[in-house]
Amino acid sequence: MSASGFPVAKPLPSVWTEEPHVLDDYRSAETLSGEFDIAIIGSGFSGVSTAYHILKISSTAPAVVLLEARSHCSGATGRNGGHIKPDTYYSTTKYERIYGSEQASKLQKFESSQVLAVKELVESEGLDCDFHVTRAVDVYMDPDHARQTYAAYVKLRDSGFFDLKDVAYTDSSSAERISGVKGAQSLFSFTAAYLWPRKMVLGLLQRLIQQHDVKAYAQTPVAKVSKSRDSAGFWTIFTSRGNLRARKIVYATNGYTAALLPQYSRKIVPVRGVCSHITTPRGQNSPHLPNTYSLRFGGANYDYLVPRPDGSIVVGGARQTFLHDRDLWFNTVRDDQRMSMAADKYFQNYMQQHFRGWEDSKATTKRVWTGVMGYTSDYMPHIGEVPDMPGQYIIAGFTGRGMAYILLASKALSRMIVEGIDYEQTELPAMFESTKERLSSSESELENEFSGVWNLKEKDHAGDFVAPILRARL
Ligand SMILES: Cc1cc2nc3c(=O)[nH]c(=O)nc-3n(C[C@H](O)[C@H](O)[C@H](O)COP(=O)(O)OP(=O)(O)OC[C@H]3O[C@@H](n4cnc5c(N)ncnc54)[C@H](O)[C@@H]3O)c2cc1C
Repeated sequence: MSASGFPVAKPLPSVWTEEPHVLDDYRSAETLSGEFDIAIIGSGFSGVSTAYHILKISSTAPAVVLLEARSHCSGATGRNGGHIKPDTYYSTTKYERIYGSEQASKLQKFESSQVLAVKELVESEGLDCDFHVTRAVDVYMDPDHARQTYAAYVKLRDSGFFDLKDVAYTDSSSAERISGVKGAQSLFSFTAAYLWPRKMVLGLLQRLIQQHDVKAYAQTPVAKVSKSRDSAGFWTIFTSRGNLRARKIVYATNGYTAALLPQYSRKIVPVRGVCSHITTPRGQNSPHLPNTYSLRFGGANYDYLVPRPDGSIVVGGARQTFLHDRDLWFNTVRDDQRMSMAADKYFQNYMQQHFRGWEDSKATTKRVWTGVMGYTSDYMPHIGEVPDMPGQYIIAGFTGRGMAYILLASKALSRMIVEGIDYEQTELPAMFESTKERLSSSESELENEFSGVWNLKEKDHAGDFVAPILRARL
């Protein structure tokens, strides 16, 4: 990791940052001082959505300030795949084993409810962000993995605990024809959405600034927070533009959290992912991708494809090219650097290779970028009051899947902040709570999961070399 673990300057541009936004480097003033009711660190989806809900439910008009180290929404939310994809069935078996049927079912329902919740937000706030409800199509490429996943799905369905009404299964007899993916062994589909994530978040931020006088500061890294409150109940926040005091603080700092809160080291680990933007010379007249897709090559290796209204596609994944090399992706915040030549090359000819009808499309990779996710040691986000830090809250660690969590997670957190309710009084699954137990545990499911592959040589990893390790855990 970079010496500090703080966001690095000048991240690689992503497809979502290509178009400048009036709020990119917006600052309410050039220097910072004064007192605020609530300071939120990080202006990604988590930070802006928390500010939105706080102001929506407050009967008073709290003074809220958003502090962002780089351009607004230039972290994972400005660099992701733009996919809102609830985990409706795939990991449920694993979660049931770890957390029991009741919590696993609550988690599945929580994720499934996000798509329409985001739709409602986009519509009610009039956010121009290419939002589109679709079907997510999980395409299984490996016959063993396809069989195993189907068996697990049937068990879930027959248990009666889980709502699988929206999940549709197609077997090998028609999977290739229906998905359009060459060599497809089976598929599952369910409701999902795609959007321009940065436009949604910056659109929301614009409303907060205009309608609620929220103060926002880009290019303003927070260096540290005082260790205790002063006699008037304020924490002091030290930034590059001066110091401010706040009664309450929200860490919406994703993979960078441990730089400010060292107790989250190894609990929220910065992990790099890679995405690409594929275009064709024919633009909107290229073959059409009617859904979003995940091509699952095995337990750990998968790519995801998100179509855009202009006919281009965002494709992320390429894990086969880097998972074995820990230094490339684990515990690093370097989103100013490419992942590797192999990852860049991975996306060349991707559509021609995998999709029927794309052979003559001349599709090429226009851009490849990296981004920093916050992976947690137990795969669950940390939400709630920071243990032993009254008045400080956290919403971070979505393990690469935040678009299907953050809106409703931040809504619940806002009730804790504004109404003073306890975590148990929110609707959130119990395992999201940031507890002392989670912070003091020396176990890391995340490290256990991947330690087996970090020692493999590149030559050993043909196809899905990780699958057997992960499969054993399912
Ligand atoms: C390549 C990639 C692809 C992804 N694809 C998907 C996808 O398709 N679907 C999905 O659901 N999820 C996806 N994710 C994950 C998703 O983007 C995240 O879960 C989500 O955006 C997290 O939002 P956030 O607001 O918590 O974090 P971020 O968007 O990372 O925001 C955190 C912000 O905090 C700021 N910050 C940190 N420390 C400080 C500090 N000390 N001072 C001031 N500011 C600070 C950062 O600069 C950053 O802007 C992907 C992630 C990546 C990287």
